This record gives sequence, C-alpha cells and structure tokens, in this order.
Amino acid sequence: METVVSGIRPTGNLHLGNYFGAVKSFLQMQHEYNCYFFIADWHSLTTHPHPDNIRKSVKTILAEYLACGIDPEKATIYIQSDVREVAELYLYLNMNAYLGELERVTSFKDKVRSQPNNVNAGLLTYPSLMAADIIIHKAVKVPVGKDQEQNMEMARKFARRFNNIYGVDYFPEPASFHLSEKAVKVPGLDGSGKMGKSEGNAIYLIDDEKTIKSKVMKAVTDSGPTVPNSEKPEPIANLFMMMDIVSTPDTYQFFNEKYNACEIRYGDMKKQLAEDINLFCKPIRERINDMLTDDAYLDRIAREGAEKAAANASKTLKEVREIIGFRG
Ligand code: AMP
Repeated sequence: METVVSGIRPTGNLHLGNYFGAVKSFLQMQHEYNCYFFIADWHSLTTHPHPDNIRKSVKTILAEYLACGIDPEKATIYIQSDVREVAELYLYLNMNAYLGELERVTSFKDKVRSQPNNVNAGLLTYPSLMAADIIIHKAVKVPVGKDQEQNMEMARKFARRFNNIYGVDYFPEPASFHLSEKAVKVPGLDGSGKMGKSEGNAIYLIDDEKTIKSKVMKAVTDSGPTVPNSEKPEPIANLFMMMDIVSTPDTYQFFNEKYNACEIRYGDMKKQLAEDINLFCKPIRERINDMLTDDAYLDRIAREGAEKAAANASKTLKEVREIIGFRG
C-alpha cells in the first residue's frame, strides 16, 4: 500500500482553507493508503518562537482532526516533536541544501517581509524540515493545498539529491495530491489572496454561528456590475469561489445568474453564504467541543500515533545512517 504524509501547524485552529485544501483529502485517503497525518509543532516555532501554550494548541488541532473524521484506527495521527528521528533527517538534508535555493522560496520571501525582525534559520530551512517529515516515511503522495507547490518541489529535489549524492535509489519522490484535478485555493474574503491563519482572515471550523456571520458580512465587495456578464474582480470572484466550495450548485448558480444580469445583492449573497458555512461547520464544531473534554482519549491517540510513527521513522533513519556511512 502506498504511503501518504501530511501535516498542519498548530498556530491556530483549523480553518476552511485547511479543511478544503488538505483535511478533505485526508478523509478520503485514509481508506486507500497507509496514512501519516501529523501536527507540525516544530514548524510553528519558525513564526511563533514563544508559543503561548503549545500543548493546548496541539491538543486542539488533534481534537479538530478527529472531529473532521480522521480515524486513528485507519491513519496514524501524531505530533511532529514526538518523532525525533525527523530532526536528525532534517540535519542531513540541511547539509545538502543550498542558501541560494532556500532564499528563492516564495514563502520564505513572504515571511521576510511579514516578520523582518525574526528571519531565522528555521524559516529559511522550512522546506528541508518539510521534506524530512515526508520522506522519513518514504511517502509518495502528499495531500496539500496549492500554496505548497514550491515546498513540494523542494521536497522532491532533496529526495533526488540524497539519492544522487549517496548513489542509491532510496527515497521515492513525493507528489502533491489533490482530490480534484485542480488544487483548491480557499480564498480570503478580505479582497485578495488566500485564507490563512497568518493572513488574519480565517473562518475557523470552531467559529460559532454569530462569528461566522460577522466575518462573512464583512467580506469585501464593490458597487456591483453595470455591464451584463462582466468578469468578476478578485474580491467578488473570491466570494463566489467560497460559495462554490460550501454551497449547493443551485445556490451558486442562482447568485451567478443574478451577477450576470447585474441584479446581484451582495448582502443577500453573504447572508446565504454565512448560513451555508454554518451548516457545514456546525456538526464539526459540536464534535470538536466534545473531543476537547476528553483529555485521556486525546492523550492515548497521541501516544499510540507517536509509537507507530517513530517505529517507521527509526527504521528509515537506521538505513539512512548506514547509507551515509554512520553506524546504523
Ligand atoms: P498551514 O495552515 O499553513 O499549516 O497549512 C496546512 C495545510 O492546509 C496545507 O496543506 C496547506 O496547503 C493547506 N491550506 C492552508 N490554507 C489554505 C488555503 N487557503 N487554501 C487551500 N489550502 C490551504
């Protein structure tokens, strides 16, 4: 059975971008592949060096993964920092990762802009840690959102480079996996770009009805089209994209026709969108709140996941050490 790996950073709650960009694929893949889904707590230190309460954030993401329907009987769910072998592989990959190529990564350049006072080596080497996470399990498929394409290219490059340098055919090259032909990019509703924790525009699975409504009603719009069938400017296209993701095709079509006829009332559209988002989130939100009351269960899932993931990772690392020339 082919192996799949993917992770999410515990720097906030799961949002609709995480769900439709990644978790939705996890739910399908857990039935068909040998899956490892992890909580990337080491990665979160690149942007949050003093996590307020990392254990609490990790526990929340774990509850959210489970509430979305990830089944620990089918997939291995674990916390990145519980598998220390990943850190050793990261070290080996870093020895063959070059400054120029790391500096060219768009997400690194974005972070240099967004946190100029903390351009740390962890940010620079984010792609080699991500590659270590993936190839430690010799994964061939990685369900990720469109925003991760470049990091995935780096992961393939590092796997290939390891094989070339040591003259082996050891690590497979991992491919990005998307449920549909087109990778989903869940937009933000603040005018441009993607929905994200760092972007401050996220709608979280845990948000209650009122919060969802207030976030959606604040979505950026314009004064409406004046020419029939005109192209939608980005903020409007984003609103429609979100509707396409969470609402029924009929609903989408209704508002699309209104737009094309220059009769759109954005207020009505937003109200509908907020209702549809709430309809989608409500059952998940209820399960998250239930899960969060059961510490013993969450601890057991994390412990069992760590054991399974570490067993697999240490097998890879033993072979990697032998390939490089260290004691196995
Ligand atoms: P992060 O929240 O950055 O740790 O991302 C975790 C996962 O969610 C990755 O697979 C991302 O590709 C995915 N993801 C995050 N935001 C979005 C978004 N707006 N659209 C699609 N996928 C996303």
